[in-house]
Amino acid sequence: MEERNTKHVLMIPYPSQGHLNPMLQFSKRLSTKGVKVTMITTIFISKIMHLQSLSLPSSLQFDFISDGYDQGGFAQVGNISTYLSQMKTIGSENLKELIQKYNSSNHPIDCVVYDPMIQWVLDVTKEFDLLGAAFFTQKCSVNYMYYHVYHGLLKLPITSLPISIEGLPLLELKDTPSFVNDPGFYPAYYEMVMNQFSNIHKADIVLVNSFYKLEDQVVDSMSKLCPILTIGPTVPSFYLDKGVPNDKDNDLSLFQLDSSAINWLKSKPAGSVTYVSFGSMVCFSMEQMKEIALGLLGSGSNFLWVIPTMENKNIPKELVEEISSSGKGLVVNWIQQLEVLSNKAIGCFFTHCGWNSTLEALCLGVPMIAIPQWTDQPLNAKFVEDVWKVGIRVIVNENGIVTREEIKSCIRKVLENDVGSEMRINAKKWRELAIEAISHGGTSDNNINDFLNKLKRS
Ligand code: UDP
Repeated sequence: MEERNTKHVLMIPYPSQGHLNPMLQFSKRLSTKGVKVTMITTIFISKIMHLQSLSLPSSLQFDFISDGYDQGGFAQVGNISTYLSQMKTIGSENLKELIQKYNSSNHPIDCVVYDPMIQWVLDVTKEFDLLGAAFFTQKCSVNYMYYHVYHGLLKLPITSLPISIEGLPLLELKDTPSFVNDPGFYPAYYEMVMNQFSNIHKADIVLVNSFYKLEDQVVDSMSKLCPILTIGPTVPSFYLDKGVPNDKDNDLSLFQLDSSAINWLKSKPAGSVTYVSFGSMVCFSMEQMKEIALGLLGSGSNFLWVIPTMENKNIPKELVEEISSSGKGLVVNWIQQLEVLSNKAIGCFFTHCGWNSTLEALCLGVPMIAIPQWTDQPLNAKFVEDVWKVGIRVIVNENGIVTREEIKSCIRKVLENDVGSEMRINAKKWRELAIEAISHGGTSDNNINDFLNKLKRS
């Protein structure tokens, strides 16, 4: 039976795949350290999520509140600005009711861990006089750049290049997050990422899904302005320290899983397959999808390509048929990415450089071909290529397209060349450092314990 004095944490992610995964992983880690965690997400997400509940600890539960769009989430409204403002108005009232519900039960809330993309959660938390911990799901360098913009330390639009910020490499425009290199693009998202810093000074704890050695210089620089605890990587423990029982997967997916990939990979030689996935949100034009398909086919290598349903419409059916009849490629809707990345057959990861995917590849020692699109992805790609030296970034032509020839050449470089061997050596090094950080006594493990000590004192 749970002890009455077990600390109870509410975990409140932004409701999208790339934000749910790291918070769920962190919740599992807290559970093994004796904390009760309730993960809160939206009613809409509860309707579409596939949850591997059998592998979740009993001290971790889910609860759901309405964001005002129970039938379709963001897609129901289609306009991000309306969605975000309604989510704040309706979500904050519902969150108050939920906290009241727990506070009048046997398990009152001690702390709320929230995603700063929904920074209003901290204001609700403070109304109840609870401990509030911000959890940045993106890497420290990105947060630090946004911090500079928010505080007017980096003026937009950028007029002088390269950009020099203490702790970061010199940056060209193409290396910066899309909200920095094109601030007028998606104004509602721009406001959301910058507003992360509007009340951060009121947070009792600031957690970042990264690990110290991965970004030591920027962690040191940012820590002078805002005390942060790096607690990552939030990659399932099975692939790292093995310290969390049954923690083999991300456990929650918003797409229907396809299990055919693992059998297919079994028949492929070690290091021969390019794994291709652009995450849960990127949608390429039909022209770009065609170039990607023809580049993959033309490379002569094996490839496994995740095309979620929303992207399906942008690839001609004949090309998908050509891929399956080639014997070289397999197209799937959604897979267990960790299981695939850890498969011996995988030789490289052609990725949009979403932060979770990038961290997962680093943790599993897989070199990358980066095709960043927006938000934090360009800065992640810069680090992949020039700081961690575990991949290459594709070159975009004058029409904004990455051609089939460029894709073929990148695949060959990473799979076949000496350049690729060096990347593999570097990737292995980062994997070892990730394991060290999260293992008992590592920097992230110590920071998680610091967080727990603050919780115990609350
Ligand atoms: N993912 C997965 N199966 C897939 C493709 C992606 O489980 O077929 C997971 C991946 O492991 C990662 C997340 O989805 O944890 C994507 O997050 P990321 O930050 O890379 O990209 P986003 O979807 O936010 O753009």
